[in-house]
Amino acid sequence: MLNLILFGPPGSGKGTQSLKIAEKFNLAHISTGDIFRSEIKNKTELGIKVQSIIEKGDLVPDPLLIEILENALNQLKGKSGYIFDGFPRTHQQAKDLDIMLEKRNDSISLVIALDVDQNEVVKRLLNRAQLEGRKDDTEEVILNRMEVYQNQTAPLISYYKKQGKFVQVNGMGSIEEIFKSISDQIQQLQH
Ligand code: ADP
Repeated sequence: MLNLILFGPPGSGKGTQSLKIAEKFNLAHISTGDIFRSEIKNKTELGIKVQSIIEKGDLVPDPLLIEILENALNQLKGKSGYIFDGFPRTHQQAKDLDIMLEKRNDSISLVIALDVDQNEVVKRLLNRAQLEGRKDDTEEVILNRMEVYQNQTAPLISYYKKQGKFVQVNGMGSIEEIFKSISDQIQQLQH
């Protein structure tokens, strides 16, 4: 199976690129952010629990992630693997993911990080705030999300480097240029 993680700070374009990669390589797209937003919209028990955390830009507690992940991994239906978008975000989540995949005789194939400039990312997020009205896209919350990323998520780079699974692509440029860089990395893996 082809199991990818698209990695990068908030606003780096993971969502846009994951959808394109999922389509091109026939992968199940697992976006924990999308899952939470849908739970919040539908006012489910989980949605109500996580709403205020997400609106502050903090991370949802790890045990809640295991729950939704187990569910998401079961949605494979005829796909060639998964692309994880916005997950894992903590060391614990990365370990849990490895264990869950191992149980299925599977593993992460590659982690592809989008390398973007911090100022650019804040600009993109503020712009998205105006277009989509996401509650976690105010300046204060964006800065908190960046800090959370630096403190809790960026350390995963060394976790995956140690496993020899980490590559970086330039995340600045047009959507198509970035898509090509990511696709090239995946194709190299397949040869
Ligand atoms: P971004 O665009 O900032 O990368 P996402 O759409 O992936 O954000 O996620 C939005 C919010 O949902 C995060 O700020 C966080 O509160 C919550 N969230 C999403 N994925 C996770 C995760 N893997 N662990 C903890 N919280 C998460």
